[in-house]
Amino acid sequence: MINSNAKVLLIYTGGTIGMVENVETGAWEPFNFSHLRSNMPEIKRLNFTVDTYLFDPPIDSSDMSLSVWQQTVQVIEDHYDSYDGFVILHGTDTMAYTASALSLMLENLTRPVILTGSQLPVGKLRTDGKENLITALEIAADKDSTGHPIVPELCIYMQNLLMRGNRTIKVNANNFSAFSSPNYPCLGEAGLNIRYGTQYILKPDYAMPVKFKYAMDPRAVVLKLFPGISEEAVRAHLEIPGLKGVVLETYGTGNSPIHPWFTRLLGEAIERGIVIVNVTQCLSGSVAMHLYENGQRLERLGVVSGYDITTEAAIVKLMILFGEGRTPAEVSRLMPVPLRGELTVRG
Ligand code: ASP
Repeated sequence: MINSNAKVLLIYTGGTIGMVENVETGAWEPFNFSHLRSNMPEIKRLNFTVDTYLFDPPIDSSDMSLSVWQQTVQVIEDHYDSYDGFVILHGTDTMAYTASALSLMLENLTRPVILTGSQLPVGKLRTDGKENLITALEIAADKDSTGHPIVPELCIYMQNLLMRGNRTIKVNANNFSAFSSPNYPCLGEAGLNIRYGTQYILKPDYAMPVKFKYAMDPRAVVLKLFPGISEEAVRAHLEIPGLKGVVLETYGTGNSPIHPWFTRLLGEAIERGIVIVNVTQCLSGSVAMHLYENGQRLERLGVVSGYDITTEAAIVKLMILFGEGRTPAEVSRLMPVPLRGELTVRG
């Protein structure tokens, strides 16, 4: 139910949705927001208020950084009490990382924050951007019969699907259905109407304030295993000066080689206080280190399970937990615990 007094803030960070073609090079480049507005008179026809906030200059999301995430949280904090919901226009390339980061930076969120973008600019005839944007705005304004937002969560809405943001992965570089939520059901689906999966949506404590978190520590890396990975390559990752956390992308249910040099390097890193989180390379399913000897070896070394968390969510969660000044023991304890529904603990 959308009240005509509803107000949504549309935050434009950049991305294809608002790009134009450079006639000389043929490349798509960020353009100013008036381009988006003039190409989308539909926005003016919505029966609620949409105000806009523009990042200047808009960025291709490949240029996303910790400071842009912090700026985005600041914009949301500054406008939180004046709006019913927020829609963030963002390039699709790093949208899953941004969704994961913002979900963890916004604690006890009581308003919808919906990220969307498009594979084709809104100026193109076959654009996917218009439907994505209009529906995202409606979801951000939608309330239940008690007057609470239907989706007080950080989500991605793309190509008819509303997904918990920290569960998403960009799975296709070309198709309009660019995102998937392989390990958690969608929170909604838009057809003739928007059908919400209310049983899957997080319920905040409306008596408690939302907390805006800014601290992040970038000293974390992703180490993806592959058959034949060399000792030098693993060492180069684990011995990065000042390193605090590693997302170890393993095989299947969390298995890795058991070469003595590999276990030694991992063990020494853990001894130095580096937190190593086990995340599967598989698109879906969960880490279960107890299943095979190769996984048990990691468990015995002190590698912590990320269960079914995405790499995108795991890396930003490490940055945020270390940013809060937590000790390695605290980070190791919290990585396998769902803070915003980003993972499911499985036996
Ligand atoms: N390179 C663009 C970006 O992520 C692609 C897109 O907008 O989808 O910003």
